[in-house]
Amino acid sequence: MDKIIVVGAGISGLLSALELSEAGYEVSILDQSDFGRESSWAGGGIISPLYPWEYPEAINQLAALSQHYYPTLVKRLYEATDIDPEYRESGMLFLDQDEDGPGYRWAQTQAQLRYQLLDGAALHAAEPGLKTALPHALLFENRAQVRNPRLLKAVIQVLKNKNVKLLSRSSVEQVLVRHNEVRGVKTNQGEILAPHVLICAGAWSGQSGLFEQAKTIYPVQGQMLLYRIAANTLRHVILDQGRYIIPRADGRVLVGSTMEPRGFDKQITQQAFKALNEFACSHFPVLENQLETHWAGLRPATDDHLPVIGPHPSIHGLYINAGHFRNGVVMAPASARLILNIIAKQPTILDPTAFAPRLKKQN
Ligand SMILES: Cc1cc2nc3c(=O)[nH]c(=O)nc-3n(C[C@H](O)[C@H](O)[C@H](O)COP(=O)(O)OP(=O)(O)OC[C@H]3O[C@@H](n4cnc5c(N)ncnc54)[C@H](O)[C@@H]3O)c2cc1C
Repeated sequence: MDKIIVVGAGISGLLSALELSEAGYEVSILDQSDFGRESSWAGGGIISPLYPWEYPEAINQLAALSQHYYPTLVKRLYEATDIDPEYRESGMLFLDQDEDGPGYRWAQTQAQLRYQLLDGAALHAAEPGLKTALPHALLFENRAQVRNPRLLKAVIQVLKNKNVKLLSRSSVEQVLVRHNEVRGVKTNQGEILAPHVLICAGAWSGQSGLFEQAKTIYPVQGQMLLYRIAANTLRHVILDQGRYIIPRADGRVLVGSTMEPRGFDKQITQQAFKALNEFACSHFPVLENQLETHWAGLRPATDDHLPVIGPHPSIHGLYINAGHFRNGVVMAPASARLILNIIAKQPTILDPTAFAPRLKKQN
């Protein structure tokens, strides 16, 4: 049985570990912190790129495959762990799209998408608490969301029940390489040997000692507000001008997000609070003074928005699955399957060339 070390226990690392373990690999997964506490915890859990028509086709292909895998995955996780990841087809309602917009044109080309152009009355019926009066809005009916902390908890539980070694608070300082072959990793707890290492360290993946080829990946901070109101007051994931409102089943409502390259800084700011709170309350006055908490996460960004998935160009046994930027939760199941295909030399679920590790352009 081949040994593999997965570095990073966000959604990318956890689902990769699950795929690899089910394919027969002896998997150890390490995180420098507690499992599932970084970007994957902080995110909104919308199971779609926010404005899919603005993204490269390769992203929509990975997203579409994941959208296909998600219902089975969450059902399986729920049955195995009794933790409900709260996967719900709550739909995506675009307040900034009408019949002349790119969203409506894109929707007409999507065979699997159920969509509707709503007039003002239908919009009011769909979201009675919405204060903003609009002549039109675009609804993607069969788009889903998931509750990130619960999804992560469920995957971690499943891995614990399998023969996977989970090592939290183990920081990988260096991938060990001899004659261009991976030997394992050096951690703050000592060395672990294995012929394969998969880097899933999110925004940290290109750091020195990990997968330096992936210096193209850098952190972009996103802040999020969480409100609590009566359940079912809001019904859909709502998007407007790049911001979104996500109602959870228990009445919690997430509002996001900002996009700021501030290095590895997770400090929240009053400025972001003001902007997001004004956005949310101007659409839904019911949210006023109902704030529960406010946090920031670090998206693993790339300039072209494409994740980096594949083998190291010259070090045998070193792989990466990272850099999913704003779409890491939606793309995670298909990315994990793709990296398994690559490592195990199986036929790939899609053409992997768009995601191959790429060098940062010199300015
Ligand atoms: C505010 C916000 C909203 C978002 N909303 C959505 C959304 O609605 N839908 C969507 O699809 N995506 C969304 N995203 C993006 C998504 O959350 C990320 O793309 C995704 O979580 C990245 O997952 P990951 O596992 O690659 O990274 P992470 O979750 O960041 O995990 C990386 C892990 O690697 C560990 N690590 C780093 N260095 C080391 C080391 N040297 N040794 C050991 N461990 C290490 C870290 O501790 C961390 O746990 C959002 C992100 C943010 C911040």
